[in-house]
Formats: sequence, structure tokens, C-alpha cells
Amino acid sequence: MQIYSESDVNVDKLTDKRIAVLGYGSQGRAHALNLKDSGLDVVAGLRPDGASWAKAQADGLEVQRPEDAVTDAALVAFLVPDTAQPALYEQVVDGIPQAATLLFAHGFNIHYDQIQPREDLDVVLIAPKGPGDLVRRQYQQGKGVPCLVAVAQDRSGEAMATALAYAHGIGGSRGGILETTFAEETETDLFGEQAVLCGGATELVLAGFDTLVKAGYQPEVAYFECMHELKLIVDLLHEGGLKKMHQFISETAKWGDLKSGPRVIDAHVRERMQEILAEIQDGSFAKEWVAENRQGRSEYQRMLAADLAHPIETVGRELRARMPWLEE
Ligand code: NAD
Ligand code: MG
Repeated sequence: MQIYSESDVNVDKLTDKRIAVLGYGSQGRAHALNLKDSGLDVVAGLRPDGASWAKAQADGLEVQRPEDAVTDAALVAFLVPDTAQPALYEQVVDGIPQAATLLFAHGFNIHYDQIQPREDLDVVLIAPKGPGDLVRRQYQQGKGVPCLVAVAQDRSGEAMATALAYAHGIGGSRGGILETTFAEETETDLFGEQAVLCGGATELVLAGFDTLVKAGYQPEVAYFECMHELKLIVDLLHEGGLKKMHQFISETAKWGDLKSGPRVIDAHVRERMQEILAEIQDGSFAKEWVAENRQGRSEYQRMLAADLAHPIETVGRELRARMPWLEE
């Protein structure tokens, strides 16, 4: 795999060029402030009636409406929610200068053709592998969150150099910039959040909790076992992989892990994972999600409400209230 670091970056590529950062949420705020602290010329493109306008100004940034911010920008970063990007693109596209660069932090809209970028533009991806507050905090500490880089459209012949200079500006070159494609970033990101991180992990927790409660054990005890303690294990995996986790759990826990883990995540689960991956790859997941957004998200709201009504949420709230240190 190609991994770029600071010595691969032409830091002058974005010097004296204007960067419009559209959106001021998790990624937008971190990118805008890091780029500015790196000495680059940044303008935040925000809705005049939105809450972020005053916040960005208080943070010391120049703020304009999105359609005004793009007009003299050499690079436009789309850091509003993925579902809002196609409409925002339509809103600003006519004002984007010729031969500018469009930058995304996730490939969904380009990969699934929700945005068809103008022919004269470079189109690149810089996706930090962490939430915005971490991107900001690491930068301030002189470190950086690793990023993925990809190029979807290279009209200038220098799209990669521009993307690397942007990644450098947000601190990514300190952590390493890993080369990928829009397809690989989008499909693996969707698969990870569905099968493992969000969908997979939460259903595993609920299934374990339900199994214990149904068998007559107290919900409070089931909560600690199946949800609360997950963090200890995840932290060990994050810091040192399977090896570190094995070093910190008991011999009995290790034996149970090795014997029973593959019975829970069995061949059927792996088949379901392949089905989910196939639906991501053939575009049917994206099509369904785009349609759900168009029709007002009723199915999404219904499923979200059902998730939050699960008994584990009631018992969890009560127990967490006794552990105020969790919020620190
Ligand atoms: P977010 O939801 O935190 O923030 C989006 C911001 O855009 C908000 O401030 C919102 O008020 C503003 N906004 C919404 N609609 C708008 C519009 N029409 N015009 C102008 N502003 C509008 O978003 P995020 O999580 O930072 O995601 C931005 C991009 O970064 C997405 O492509 C996402 O996939 C990607 N990404 C996010 C993370 C993450 O950890 N959050 C990590 C990697 C990549
Ligand atoms: Mg994701």
C-alpha cells in the first residue's frame, strides 16, 4: 500500500490559494481551523440562518454564504452531511471557478453518482480516520490523524498533489496518508459501519442482553456484562490488537473466547456479511437510502425510535447516572 508522509507533500501547492470549507460540523470545523493554523487562506461557507455562522466567526474564521465562499476558491471542501451535499453542489456549482478542486471526506456522492462534477474540476478525497474533534486535538498537540487519499477526476494532472497539500494542512501527513480509491473508501466505510461497528456491534450487544434477561438474570447485571464492559475490550483491541486483549483477560475468558466466539459469529453470519457487501457494491443499498431520504425518512424514524425504546436503554440510563465519571 502507498502511504505518503510529510516528505511527499509539496506544501506550497495551496499557498496563497483560497480554500472554501462548506459546513461547520464535526469535520468542517476541524478542517477549517487546522488549515487556518497551517497558514492557509480559509473561508467557511455557511447558511446565514444556521447556528454555525456565529460559532465560526467566534473561532476567528472569515464566514460567507456557501455561494459567495466558493467564487474565488481554488479548492471547495464539501463537509456538510452526505445527504445534503447534492443539493448544496447544485446551489454553488455555477460560482466555482474553472479548474478548481472539489474535495470530499467520504466518497458516497461521487461513487454513487449523486453528484456529477463539472468536467473542468479536479475531484479528490481526504478522509480522516477519526472524528473531527480528534482531528483538531491531535493537530493542536503536534500530531495528526491518518487520512485516506483518492482521486476521482484529475483534469489538472496535479489532483493528487493538491489533495496531499490539503491533508498536510489538516495534520494528516503526520499520521500518514494512505492511498485508496473512491470505490474502496466508500464501500469499506459503509460495510464497516453496517456489519461491524454500528450495526454489528450494537445488535451483538442487544442479542446478548436479551438472552440473559430472557433467562431470568437481572437486567442491571446483563447491562454491565453486555454493554458497559465492551469498552474495556475495545480499548485493548484498539491499542494492541488481539494480542494485547489476550494479555489482559483471564485464562478462562480466553478459552471461552476461542471456543464460543466462532459459534456466535458463524458461517451464517459471514454469509449475511457477504450479502450486505454485495448490496453495497451493486449500489442497491445507496439507492434505497437515497429513496428513503427523498420520501421523508419515515422508515428510518420508525426503526430509530424502536432502537431507542429497547429496555437496555432504560436500565443503562439509570446505571450510568450513578457513574458521573463516564461523561468526563
Ligand atoms: P456534521 O453532521 O457533523 O456537520 C455538518 C454541518 O453542515 C453542520 O454544521 C450543519 O449545520 C451543516 N449543514 C447541513 N446542511 C447544510 C447545507 N445545506 N448548507 C450548509 N451547511 C449545512 O457532518 P460531518 O460528520 O462532519 O460530515 C461531513 C463529511 O465528513 C461527510 O461527508 C462525512 O461522511 C465525512 N466524514 C465524517 C466523519 C466523522 O467522524 N463525523 C469522519 C470521516 C468523514
Ligand atoms: Mg463511516
